[in-house]
Amino acid sequence: TAAMIERRDALLGPAYRLMYEHPLHIVRGEGVWLIDPEGRRYLDVYNNVASLGHCHPAVTEAICRQVQTLATNTRYLHNTILELAERLLATVPETELAHLMLTCTGSEANDVAYRIAQVRTGGTGVIVTETAYHGFTDAVSKFSPSLGVTVDLGAHVRLVPAPRLYHAEGADLCERFTRDVEVAIADLQRHGIKPAALIVDSLFTSDGILPEPAGLLKGAVEAIKRAGGIFIADEVQPGFGRTGEHMWGFQRHGVIPDIVTLGKPMGNGQPIAGLLATAEVLAEFGKNSRYFNTFAGNTVSCAAALAVLDTIEKEGLVQHAARVGKILREGIAALADRHEAIGDVRGAGMFVAVELVADRTTRAPDRELTTRVVNLMRDKGVLLSACAMGHNVLKIRPPLVLTAEQAGMVIETLDAALTEAQSAKAR
Ligand code: PMP
Repeated sequence: TAAMIERRDALLGPAYRLMYEHPLHIVRGEGVWLIDPEGRRYLDVYNNVASLGHCHPAVTEAICRQVQTLATNTRYLHNTILELAERLLATVPETELAHLMLTCTGSEANDVAYRIAQVRTGGTGVIVTETAYHGFTDAVSKFSPSLGVTVDLGAHVRLVPAPRLYHAEGADLCERFTRDVEVAIADLQRHGIKPAALIVDSLFTSDGILPEPAGLLKGAVEAIKRAGGIFIADEVQPGFGRTGEHMWGFQRHGVIPDIVTLGKPMGNGQPIAGLLATAEVLAEFGKNSRYFNTFAGNTVSCAAALAVLDTIEKEGLVQHAARVGKILREGIAALADRHEAIGDVRGAGMFVAVELVADRTTRAPDRELTTRVVNLMRDKGVLLSACAMGHNVLKIRPPLVLTAEQAGMVIETLDAALTEAQSAKAR
């Protein structure tokens, strides 16, 4: 491995990062498993791209069939993209979302969404949560504070606190979030900046996975619309059934977005992302701009995305995510009796957060312990990672097909890793 890391650093340069103290060399994926060259199997509970499981046969078959028939762009008539648009739009009947535009990455989807918002509103102001991540392009990185010191936020960007229920003792978070967005809007206006959009990941993934309270976004969405801006739901993480409730995360908040951005699990590994937008929001942009993206919406990616939608339905993965996600959450919550470091366990469906604290009374983050646990889990064969401002929230985001038995393995391994990490600390 050491030689490979050295070769990689030499070839790819200094901007790339590997996960884990002992980086993994992976040669194969199968369902919830990643397999190294020696045949050791790692339970992957972190990969929300291979949401149906690695190399799902329905998707690989759809890709193979299409790549052998025709791999080309959106400048010809072809049924796959039309069928995909119909199928995706059918998931949001309660909205006025009417069009699908395709990109290759979630970053591009948010970049295009922001351009549409600017044309629509005549403004540039953006409101996001304090540790949000929305992508890597120049425009989007300026409203992705989780990039930290590596990128300066734009002067047109305002941050609002994420709804950290565990740290909020009895506060009305709906009211507080609405007020914070209103304050951000007023501050933009005071600086002569017209608000263009409120962009929110409805599970607040980078902020620490904060699903509660449901309904939180209602007042904030009304506020941005009143101010002439639009609401963009970033569904790159919560989308495609992960919450175990609906297809999309915004649905748990009872709000109607003007644009919904999609990505990660959309092609189960095939690069495809995009956005759904209302006719009203897109009208002006479409009049003045031509949209073409060489690879986005290619026939092969569309075939993969159609197979993903079929499989979610056929295998009942939304309901499955709810059932097994609950087992996972409750099993981990039960570990709190034995492990003082577990401050909070929360989540929705197949997205679970475990907040590790140095002290349950102060709820101070234990970043060091969290990093230790992530690495111990990897050494014990379970792959996960951490997020949030204090970098003290274990992020568990398995493929939706995780079984109850495999959830049991995650719980058992976490129990062992916490015991080992804490005894190392005591020494
Ligand atoms: N939005 C959210 C909420 C994300 O988590 C990510 C990726 N982590 C992106 C957008 C960007 O997607 P991509 O990496 O495909 O550009």
